[in-house]
Amino acid sequence: MTDIQATDFEALDRLEAEEKAKTPSKKVNLLGLSPKKMDEFFEGLGEKKFRTQQMLKWIHQIGESDFDKMTNMSKAMRTKLAEVAEISLPEIVMDKTSVDGTRKWVMKMPGGSSIETVYIPEKERGTLCISSQIGCALDCSFCSTGKQGFNRDLSVAEIIGQLFVASQSLDTPGEKRVRRITNVVMMGMGEPLLNFDNVVDSMELMLNDFAYSLSKRRVTLSTSGVVPMMDKLGDLADVSLAVSLHAGNDKLRDVLVPINKKYPIKELIAATNRYLAKLPDRRKATIEYTMMKDVNDSTQDAEEIAEVLKNTPCKINLIPFNPFPNSGYERPSNNRVYRFRDLLHERGFIVTIRSTRGDDIDAACGQLVGQVEDRTRRQQKYIELHQVNDSDAV
Ligand code: SF4
Repeated sequence: MTDIQATDFEALDRLEAEEKAKTPSKKVNLLGLSPKKMDEFFEGLGEKKFRTQQMLKWIHQIGESDFDKMTNMSKAMRTKLAEVAEISLPEIVMDKTSVDGTRKWVMKMPGGSSIETVYIPEKERGTLCISSQIGCALDCSFCSTGKQGFNRDLSVAEIIGQLFVASQSLDTPGEKRVRRITNVVMMGMGEPLLNFDNVVDSMELMLNDFAYSLSKRRVTLSTSGVVPMMDKLGDLADVSLAVSLHAGNDKLRDVLVPINKKYPIKELIAATNRYLAKLPDRRKATIEYTMMKDVNDSTQDAEEIAEVLKNTPCKINLIPFNPFPNSGYERPSNNRVYRFRDLLHERGFIVTIRSTRGDDIDAACGQLVGQVEDRTRRQQKYIELHQVNDSDAV
C-alpha cells in the first residue's frame, strides 16, 4: 500500500484547485444579465419580477457579490441562488493612477488576454472609457489596439464588469458614496458595433435606474463606421454617437481606417444623419479626428472635413496623435492643430482639442493595448465571419 504523505494531499488539493479553475463555471453570472434577462432568470426560478430590481441594486449600486449578504432576500432564496448562480468579477491585474489623476485598470480575462479601462476625472464630470473587445480586427493604421490584433468579443459581464470595478475602486471605504463616473464612452479597445448584442445589453444596464442610472446623453458609443449596425443601433437605443472620421476623403481614409473601403465616407455620414434623425432630441454627433503630422493636418484637410460635415449636426473633437512605438506617425505641432481648429471654427463648427491625459501610464487616447493573444488566426476568422473587410479591400 502506498504511504500517502500530507504533502501528497496538498499536491492533490492544488491540482484539484487548478483543474477547477480551468473548468468554466456552469452557474449563471448575474453580473452580465440585462434587466430583461434578469427577469427571465428569476421567472425560471419561480420568483416574482421585483427580484430583478433587488438584484440589480445589490450588484450594480451596492457592489455586493456575496448572496449571503443580500439581507432583503430570504435564507432559502439565497441558498437557491448560490446553487445556480454567481457574481463573478473581472480580475484586476494592474491599477495605476497618473500624475494628472487619470486612472487605468488592466483586467485579466479568462483565456489569458487582458483589457484596459481608463477613468478620466475632470472638474464637472468623470468619464470612464470602456473596452468592448479583446483587441480589434479593424486594424486602423494609427491605433495601437489595432496593431495588437483581435482575440474575441467581451461578454456582457466583462463589459459591465469594467464599470463595476471602476465604480467600486473609486469609492473611498467609510465615506458617503459620491457618483464619480458621470459619463461612459465605448471608446476603449475594440469596435463596439461588431459586438453588438453584448454592447446593447451592457448599455441597458448603464442606463437602468436600478443599476447605474446614467443619462443616455452621457453614454456614448464610438464607431469607426460599421454602417448597417449604426442603423440597427438607431432602431434599438438612443445613446450618444461618436464617429471616428480621421480623414475627409476616401483615398486617405481607406489607408487610416480600412473599413472605409467597405463603407466609404458618404455612406458613413448618411448613416450618422439617419441615426441622429431617430433620436428623440436634437443631439449632435461627436466627430473624432486624430491628427497626424503631414498626414491629415493641412488646411486642405480641414476644408474637406468642413465640406463632408456641412449637413451633419456635430461637434468635432481633434485628437493630436499620441505616439507609440513603431506607429510610423508623429504628432503635429500645436500651431498646426490650432490652425486646423480655427479654420473649422470659421466654417461654423464647434471644435474642441482633446488634451492628453494619462500619458505617463500609457492611458492616453489610442494607447490602449492590453495583452492580446492568438492574433492572426482569430483575426482572420473574425474578419471572414463578419465580412467587415472585403477580401479585396484589406
Ligand atoms: S481605432 Fe478603434 S476600430 Fe480602429 S483598430 Fe483601433 S480600436 Fe479598432
